[in-house]
Amino acid sequence: MLFKINGITDKKLNAVYEKSMRELDSFFDLGWEHGKPNVVIVPDRKTINALKGKATEAWVVGWGNGKTVYILSDKNFEKESSHKYSDDKYFALLKHELAHCFSHLISKSAQKPVWLLEGIAIFLSGQLDFKTKPEQYLKFIDFYESGGAEVYSEAGFVVEFLVEKHGKEKILELLKRASESDSKDAFAHLFKSIYDFELSYNNFNRGII
Ligand SMILES: [Zn+2]
Repeated sequence: MLFKINGITDKKLNAVYEKSMRELDSFFDLGWEHGKPNVVIVPDRKTINALKGKATEAWVVGWGNGKTVYILSDKNFEKESSHKYSDDKYFALLKHELAHCFSHLISKSAQKPVWLLEGIAIFLSGQLDFKTKPEQYLKFIDFYESGGAEVYSEAGFVVEFLVEKHGKEKILELLKRASESDSKDAFAHLFKSIYDFELSYNNFNRGII
């Protein structure tokens, strides 16, 4: 994998890519060797909109389709988005998008629940270091099939809790089987069958064990 920005190979980004792929592979236990994700560095908002085929909000800086990851260029990051730039945040963004590629493969392309997929990517990318833990969980479950800026505030902490208290095997099972459920209720049922407690705000707010 070689990142070339303005014709110059970006060694730092290549190293981050390799390290992120190794760490993610170890979590997902996949042994991903061939056909690893490509990364496309997108120069500006105009190109983001052209690639996505619609006008995007200023916070949208990365996305992917499971095989290719697109991220806004670090050179234009502050100018073309609502985010502040730092190397650590930028590298975490790349890892976040790569985590989605692993989830995509393991879940057989599950698109739902959005909170689970985003939560896994946030937790594994280290982006929780840049976030404040919410005092209460109030909305993550509602991000089932649609996303939005607000899904990023709770979902990563929910996944962190599930992994730390209940182990990674359960969340990997939940992810692998997520596409079996085609509604919010069916997913809640699947969740309960794996975790043995209800998927409810109350349970997360009480820190259920
Ligand atoms: Zn994401």
